Amino acid sequence: MKKLIYLMVVIAILGLIVSGCSIPLKSVVPISEKENPKPELGTPEIDKLVFVHSKPPVLEKIEFIHWKKDFAKGKPIPPSTPKCYAFIGKYGKTYLKWPTLPVSYVINPTNPAQTLDKYFVTSAISAGAEEWDANTGAELFNAYAIDYNAAYGVQNYQNAISFGDYPTANVIAVTTVWYNPATKAIVEFDVKFDTDWTWGDATVDPALMDLQNIATHELGHGVGLDDVYDSNCSAVTMYGYSDYGETQKRTLEQPDITGLQTLYK
Ligand SMILES: [Zn+2]
Repeated sequence: MKKLIYLMVVIAILGLIVSGCSIPLKSVVPISEKENPKPELGTPEIDKLVFVHSKPPVLEKIEFIHWKKDFAKGKPIPPSTPKCYAFIGKYGKTYLKWPTLPVSYVINPTNPAQTLDKYFVTSAISAGAEEWDANTGAELFNAYAIDYNAAYGVQNYQNAISFGDYPTANVIAVTTVWYNPATKAIVEFDVKFDTDWTWGDATVDPALMDLQNIATHELGHGVGLDDVYDSNCSAVTMYGYSDYGETQKRTLEQPDITGLQTLYK
């Protein structure tokens, strides 16, 4: 009997040793290290990681349509003397604008309806961006990148400039601006040049729709400026109509600059 008790005690002790060994064997790698790679030597230890899951902001959008001259579909002309600049959104004294600068953008230089030189397209559009940049102390735009997948109207926080067909007649280009109504922050813009037109450099051939001219106008929407439809303002870049051969929107006029500098000093 004593032997039996002795044997049971030995078995119990062995059992404890075996089970005691097996636990650390299974958990040699602590859970926290499995999920988070061990910091490099010399980097400080990370005490804890907090993952904040917040709801994505509910965004709103506005689409700006740029019409061919004499195809007026614009807003009623105000009776008072026009300022010749306007903002795409005003909340008290707050306007919709980019909260942080500079703004990045991508160009898809492919025009499915017309063979255009990639360098012509990118230089015309970036010249438009530079015109806005040059008229404020703020650095508005980063250098462009080329993205052959960039498409119009996809809300993905990528500011995409591309060519494509717009189904309505007499539309030269469109810009959609997405913004967060809670913070009044512009979060994205996309531009589409309508493939109904023959695009090019109208200083070389006035029978072309000038890409730099229209790009400069559309980028004005991208930074927060609205169309102006009063014919007394027809010289400004943000005037809502254009035509073949027009190049005067390539350079900003004083009302465009005043509007721009109201948003970005
Ligand atoms: Zn416009």
